[in-house]
Amino acid sequence: MITAENVSFAYDDAVVLNGVRVTAAPGRVVGLIGPNGSGKTTLLRTLYASLEPRAGLVSLDHAPIGSYTPREVARRLAVVVQEGSGELPLTVSELVLLGRAPHLSTFQRQSREDYAIAAAALSRVGTRHLAERVFSGLSGGEKQRVLIARALAQQADHLLLDEPTNHLDIRYQHEVLQLVRALDVATVIVLHDLNLAARYCDELVLLDGGTVAAAGTPDEVLRPEVLEPVYRIGVQRVPTDDGVQLLFRPLEQGEHREPADGSGPA
Ligand code: ADP
Repeated sequence: MITAENVSFAYDDAVVLNGVRVTAAPGRVVGLIGPNGSGKTTLLRTLYASLEPRAGLVSLDHAPIGSYTPREVARRLAVVVQEGSGELPLTVSELVLLGRAPHLSTFQRQSREDYAIAAAALSRVGTRHLAERVFSGLSGGEKQRVLIARALAQQADHLLLDEPTNHLDIRYQHEVLQLVRALDVATVIVLHDLNLAARYCDELVLLDGGTVAAAGTPDEVLRPEVLEPVYRIGVQRVPTDDGVQLLFRPLEQGEHREPADGSGPA
């Protein structure tokens, strides 16, 4: 279980999170959605302790995340973000093996089992054939899948992902999210695509200007009266064979919906 309670954060004087709550229980996939600049990445960074909240508390399995050593955090929490990973002059298999590091003691070499776990993780995301390639030479989509393989090799009970479908073609977007969903871990995932969020998340937290504009099931959150004032775009829900598809259109000049009054969807 990973929880942020009343988390606030500011870069210098600019407040970008204000009293935000989010909880992911084991086996649940919680999606963070919201317009550009609404604070999704910043919230995710507080969840993996890359940023310290100005106020509020992030807890991992009911203890403050600050009470764990970095190594203990790495055993419990895997993170898939693109920043900073591309520069390492490592092969794909070396990078994925790094996922095993939190489970080894200092100077201990990886065992056969670690190699087997890394190879299985590469196979699971369809990248076994890339094992000997240099990571920095891969395409964006290949890199993304390899970073997910590294997270799988880490075998943590919590998984945080920032836009993991970036750079992926449609088939891999679905494959990666199906895979994430099938893992029995607590997951928080930043997603831009609201239709993917609808299909693969158990719960959604909609951020707007650093506060939670709405939280609940995809069916509760992905409604025109909730989304339109936040994204300033026309939203239509269209029933499909296996759920609902959202369609979007630009609003006409002067056409806009007031924020929902908090009494829930009309
Ligand atoms: P999102 O992920 O929803 O697009 P971010 O969390 O990246 O939003 O950003 C939230 C706000 O914080 C934005 O206004 C952004 O410009 C600002 N911001 C993000 N990173 C920094 C930084 N390192 N320094 C200063 N401001 C930042």
